[in-house]
Amino acid sequence: MIVEVIAVGTELLLGQTVNTNAAQIGSRLADAGLEHQYSTVVGDDHDRMVAAIRLALSRADALVITGGVGPTQDDITREAICSATQRELLFSEEYADRLRRWWAARGREMPDSNLKQAQYPAGADLLDNPKGTAPAIQLEHEGKLIFALPGVPAELEILLDQHVLPVLQDRSGEGVVLSRVIRTYGQSESLVAEILADVFERSGNPSMAFLASSGEIKIRLTAHAPTEEEAEALVAPFEAAVRERMGSLVFGIDDETIENIVLGLARNNEWTVATAESATGGMVASRITAVPGASKVFRGAIVAYHEDVKRMSLGVADALIEEHGVVSEPVAIAMADGAARALEADVAIAVTGSAGPETLEQAAGTMVIAVHTPERTMARTVRLPGDRERVRTYTTTGALHLARLAMTGEWWSGKPRSGRWV
Ligand code: ATP
Ligand code: MG
Repeated sequence: MIVEVIAVGTELLLGQTVNTNAAQIGSRLADAGLEHQYSTVVGDDHDRMVAAIRLALSRADALVITGGVGPTQDDITREAICSATQRELLFSEEYADRLRRWWAARGREMPDSNLKQAQYPAGADLLDNPKGTAPAIQLEHEGKLIFALPGVPAELEILLDQHVLPVLQDRSGEGVVLSRVIRTYGQSESLVAEILADVFERSGNPSMAFLASSGEIKIRLTAHAPTEEEAEALVAPFEAAVRERMGSLVFGIDDETIENIVLGLARNNEWTVATAESATGGMVASRITAVPGASKVFRGAIVAYHEDVKRMSLGVADALIEEHGVVSEPVAIAMADGAARALEADVAIAVTGSAGPETLEQAAGTMVIAVHTPERTMARTVRLPGDRERVRTYTTTGALHLARLAMTGEWWSGKPRSGRWV
């Protein structure tokens, strides 16, 4: 079953509204194992909408349209569906009553323009919208299904989950789709692709895709099969091959984040965690504290931005700063040890660096990360390209990954030497 998506609205073309609906629908279709080949954005223009609908009907089995079903003059999705499918626009007295009652229940009089929402293409069903007044429309046309859903994201999502996806899945009868995301860190996307070249060659079902974000490379395996067990059996040997090749660069699967993994490691070891941050100004702590349950593990953060604060609150020795400079591995190590001491934590992550654009004694983009564990403290210097925010974001992610390697002991064993970071 091939499903196509059309997002309607000139504001989407102008960039005034970000087309998050397309992303929502896309990820839900993928989860439901429905094939999705084209996603279009079209402005509030009758003829162009008709053309987009006709084109979609020519190449897909089902069409999901979002937006343009509201009560205003520029909401013309219903009219466009009628033109594209050569159907009449009818009026539902029953739905009009329902709209009147909806307004009356809120003690308000319904503007007449709302009656537009009781219109529907001949042959269509009006679906109740539990979160608003714009009904959704479902129409069967020449063996194909057309859904018109509201543009408001919350209304769209509930209608998708409660109605559209079950109908589409039922129709498709194509079994299940299983997606497994293997999350890695420490290699560039191109190197990951090289390492896995022959695994990729053998892929098909499951298909294999590489996705890069903030230094993390995700490898997504997607299998189609009649049952969950068969899909799992298709994915398993590929997952094993990827894990074998990538070794300790693999840090998690599916939606596990590095901060979740670090907190899990701390919990398993009954360790507490703290941070000492200069250039990242608390970003590492922010990522950690965003995880529910962080309070059981996380002690706190010292944002030691100025040298004096590194001395005062972390006990970094003057001599060390003088000898090595503030952006240096000895200072990062002293910061991590100082945070572990001051905050009584078993593990402490420290960051110092020159995030740019102006340079300290080190070139912009030079960042030093140190991790203190009960066994030892280690530091690593990295040089990152890009602007200040990019450097800070990548460093934050990198610090969490180095903390994982420190906590598992993999850093010290020197195994994952090949990476850019580790
Ligand atoms: P309504 O009953 O609210 O008028 P509608 O179907 O007419 O519903 P639109 O008028 O197109 O929907 O959009 C309503 C709101 O939903 C917009 O203000 C916009 O913020 C949001 N919206 C519309 N389309 C999208 C989209 N593709 N992605 C994200 N948000 C969207
Ligand atoms: Mg509208």
